[in-house]
Amino acid sequence: MKTITSVAALREELLNEWEHSIGLVPTMGSLHAGHFSLIKEAKKNNDIVVVSIFVNPLQFGPDEDYDTYPRAFMMDEQYAEELGVDIVFAPTVQEMYPRTMYNKVHVEKGTQALCGKSRPGHFDGVSTVVLKLFNIVEPKRAYFGLKDAQQVAVIENMVIDFNLPVEIAACETVREKDGLAVSSRNSNLTRQERGQAVYLHDCLQEVKKSVEAGERDTAILEEEMRAFLHSNTDGVVDYCEILTFPELKHQSLLSGKIIIAAALQFSKVRLIDNVIVHVKGEKSYVSNNDEI
Ligand code: AMP
Repeated sequence: MKTITSVAALREELLNEWEHSIGLVPTMGSLHAGHFSLIKEAKKNNDIVVVSIFVNPLQFGPDEDYDTYPRAFMMDEQYAEELGVDIVFAPTVQEMYPRTMYNKVHVEKGTQALCGKSRPGHFDGVSTVVLKLFNIVEPKRAYFGLKDAQQVAVIENMVIDFNLPVEIAACETVREKDGLAVSSRNSNLTRQERGQAVYLHDCLQEVKKSVEAGERDTAILEEEMRAFLHSNTDGVVDYCEILTFPELKHQSLLSGKIIIAAALQFSKVRLIDNVIVHVKGEKSYVSNNDEI
């Protein structure tokens, strides 16, 4: 495995691989089981796997956790090596943004809800860095996690709008034993918050059950989510939303493929989670996303 920190060196290295398919897994490091599943998927379908590790300042708001975002580069390299990653691309901020940019990606649609609404400019920052990574690595496929489902939708839309020659693979959310979605940020939860964090997952499951039982009224279901989180956690509810997926449109009465999503702010960490389900027909029928 090679660790490469400069764009020029990475390009040179990849010149030798022009005959091989490249799978790219973009990450912000502090690698965990969620990232591992993306890397394993990339290993299955590509000759060369590149994992980028870059905490992208462009996607953090001024009051967000850029400075405290967990960084664990030595461990990351070790995990990547064990998983058979070919190249870790770990540029500095200066390497990725050597000058004030004259151009950035601006996401026009699909950011009025969920994280896009509470984190203005976040997806512009994500799309800008992902476009740069696509241009630097020129992957055949790129791997993203459905834990960040809105991100998957935004990137897929960018690929369509800009005719980018890359396939996007969306991978299922990996969870801790109690159901909490694995996240680099979980390490910044206090002990008490970690205990309560599981209710984010439980909240989604409770609402999914209500949909299974026949409830279709979005307002009632969203209120049920808020009440559940209020009564079980000290976190501040950022959003509880149920929208169509991947369009992220509001419906008063649910039908079709939907995303049930919530974000909860703890003292230092904001957690997000979602479940995607398919609501079919008059009577309630709900299946997991992977059963659709
Ligand atoms: P991050 O390092 O948080 O930017 O995440 C890098 C990639 O890993 C993104 O595509 C995330 O959606 C994905 N990811 C993060 N956590 C998980 C998880 N628990 N399960 C699956 N994918 C994940």
